[in-house]
Amino acid sequence: MIVPNAAPARMSEDERHAVSAAVESVLAADRWILGKAVQQFEEQFSHYLGFGSTVGVANGTDALVVAFGALELPVGSRVLVAANEGGYAAVACRLAGLEPVAMDVDELTMLPTSATAEAALRDSVCAIVVTHLHGEATDISELDQWRRAKGIALIEDCAQAAGARTNGNHLGFNADATTFSFYPTKNLAAVGDAGAVVFADATAAARARQLREYGWGERFRAELQGGRNSRLDELHAAVLLARLPYLDARNERRRAISARYRDAAAPLHLHGDAASTVAHHSVILSDQRSGLAAYLEQRGVSTAVHYPHLLQEMPGLGLVAPAATPVASRQRERKLSLPCFPELEESEIAHVVESLEEWHATAAAATAL
Ligand SMILES: *Cc1c(COP(=O)(O)O)cnc(C)c1O
Repeated sequence: MIVPNAAPARMSEDERHAVSAAVESVLAADRWILGKAVQQFEEQFSHYLGFGSTVGVANGTDALVVAFGALELPVGSRVLVAANEGGYAAVACRLAGLEPVAMDVDELTMLPTSATAEAALRDSVCAIVVTHLHGEATDISELDQWRRAKGIALIEDCAQAAGARTNGNHLGFNADATTFSFYPTKNLAAVGDAGAVVFADATAAARARQLREYGWGERFRAELQGGRNSRLDELHAAVLLARLPYLDARNERRRAISARYRDAAAPLHLHGDAASTVAHHSVILSDQRSGLAAYLEQRGVSTAVHYPHLLQEMPGLGLVAPAATPVASRQRERKLSLPCFPELEESEIAHVVESLEEWHATAAAATAL
């Protein structure tokens, strides 16, 4: 049996019908760019979140770039970014003419805290990006207070955490901007590249609408610097509208699958708060990662590492004099993502569970020798 790590084309019958109907509705409409579907999705998504003005963009990286621009972060200033975030926010910083500064993360949540942010703080830091890695719905109110006291903007990257709530609020409640990617494997997914950024402030949202379309004020007149073409397509907006009602149930399913692994994984640690994560990844931590990965691969269980390289290890990001990030460094050696998506078959989940249990039995036998 081969169990894929992700399989975005698998959809329930019901959801596939909804998506097909959405695609047909776009084909039948007379406007394929910035029409009714985009407007409706933006309204519905803000309604679903319970806050903010949503601006649809072409992908999750642009969502970050447009957020930086619309929040008017001064070009040349610095942005705190978690060392383990995979490089997405750091790439977006570079695109916006900002300098990413790596910070370490908390052992348990894998997210930055006020202490790790404080340790990485330098001159001319104007913003912090909190990436809710693996779908972790951690309460960041302490970090939020810290950054408010410093006058630093907060951007929450929820590309992996659509639908995640903390204390009853969707993530991003306290942020200046919250960004999403709807890449096909994300918790809320389009049938190609798509993204959105949600602003607390309607004026910033209005600037973002200009920035995503060449910086235009009136049509054909670039008014803002930093404009680009990063519109959300009608096609993707219609698909996202059709899929939004399925998001909570699909996240519940991810949580349930991850819970099965949690039981099977003991005594290994499975990352994430069981109650609040939306389990974008189901991440196991093991000192024998490569052995475990090889064992699972041999049994047809596809695994992945999210992410193998820290920001300061990627030459393309050009980090200047990075400080040490011991927690992120150590975790990067131990992480392994198991197959975790809502459409996994019961037999596939059972096969992963069984394989984990067998690994333990083998490892225990080896230790006893
Ligand atoms: C996927 C992802 C992005 C980038 O989104 P794209 O749509 O691929 O540009 C940014 N941040 C995080 C945390 C992601 O997982």
